[in-house]
Amino acid sequence: MKSLSILGATGSIGSTALEIVRQFPDRFTIRALTAKTRVAALAERIVEFRPAMAAVVDAEHASRLKALLPPEVDVEIGFGEAGYVRAATCADTDMVLGAMVGAAGLVPILAAIDAGRDIALANKETLVMGGAIVMEKIAGRGVKLMPVDSEHSAIFQSMAGQGRNGVREILLTASGGPFLKRPLAQFDAITPQEALRHPNWSMGSKITVDSATLMNKGLEVIEARWLFDIDFKRIKVVVHPQSIVHSMVTYEDGAVIAQMGVPDMKGAIAYGLSHPRRLPLDVPAPDFARIGRLTFEEADLERFPCLNLAYRAGEAGGTLPAVLNAANEVAVAAFLDNRLPFTGIYPIIDRTLSGHDAANGADLGQIIEADRWARETALAMIRRQER
Ligand code: NAD
Ligand code: MG
Repeated sequence: MKSLSILGATGSIGSTALEIVRQFPDRFTIRALTAKTRVAALAERIVEFRPAMAAVVDAEHASRLKALLPPEVDVEIGFGEAGYVRAATCADTDMVLGAMVGAAGLVPILAAIDAGRDIALANKETLVMGGAIVMEKIAGRGVKLMPVDSEHSAIFQSMAGQGRNGVREILLTASGGPFLKRPLAQFDAITPQEALRHPNWSMGSKITVDSATLMNKGLEVIEARWLFDIDFKRIKVVVHPQSIVHSMVTYEDGAVIAQMGVPDMKGAIAYGLSHPRRLPLDVPAPDFARIGRLTFEEADLERFPCLNLAYRAGEAGGTLPAVLNAANEVAVAAFLDNRLPFTGIYPIIDRTLSGHDAANGADLGQIIEADRWARETALAMIRRQER
């Protein structure tokens, strides 16, 4: 029996994780559940899974949540960063699933590691911002860090039994998103609605837009650098529109090991939660004869310049990846709000990165300050454009 705290329990990953818990009640129990503002959805999950602790974004949502719960439900409700940290470090928890979106994951995940919890990580932004600190703490505390991102789960599985010995390269596959074939001249007219229509995956809105710009793949390159301790030159991206090969590892003898599956996050989440065991899931294997062909092509960097920004920030290191992430979060939110065109996302991130003084160090305080600075800077640029 493994006890879990799920941070981001109302989202796409969190909901799928709870489906797995529901399916295997003899394997998992829930200790804590968190959300940002969706208190009704969280209340339902609290009633069903009976965690000891829950947390939401602020005091107002905490009292709204409390009002929704029947009196017989006994749950401690916290709010804000302190509340998320309490949920992440809740007593008698074996593993914390980081399934919230964005920079808000960093501090609670670090607290969970400090408290000796194993981590299953979907929240890639945590590793993008603070990869060095996270990995140092993971090693220092001797806890387990399981990737949940499908590509990184695939890489992890492709290294099973072999470790990092003899790895030549990591090949991250990218679907290419909804605009792989749209003429570049029409990119200016892309609407949020179109960007939110991903051809293969059903996910939260932020990561879906990131998949349309390929910034998601850029964030994943940085995530892979930390998870697998490999330099950026040996992490390659290949576009694979069918999303069947979830990623691959090339070894020094030229052998390539890949992990395949249908595009469904259930497999990667379940593997992250139950490794080294595989769970009997209601997920079909790919029907290869029906799929017919798997294709691969190079990523077009003129179409998807955000991918290059991620390599640039990742290679520069320090606080630049945190700046990249924060500027991207602000630009994506503005795009979804119809305040910035799709083609405006890249220049906001590019100019925020260029304006950042990278000469500072990268301890946690400096990372948080860089995140704050980048949000303010990117937002100011967007406001100036609106005038
Ligand atoms: P989502 O938008 O569906 O859900 C996000 C969850 O985080 C919700 O429960 C929400 O309440 C919570 N949340 C949002 N903002 C928050 C904040 N500021 N503070 C605390 N909680 C907050 O997102 P998702 O698609 O489930 O993605 C979650 C994470 O997993 C992201 O980092 C994403 O990149 C990563 N991921 C998702 C998928 C996928 O298939 N959805 C695949 C790989 C990786
Ligand atoms: Mg992914």
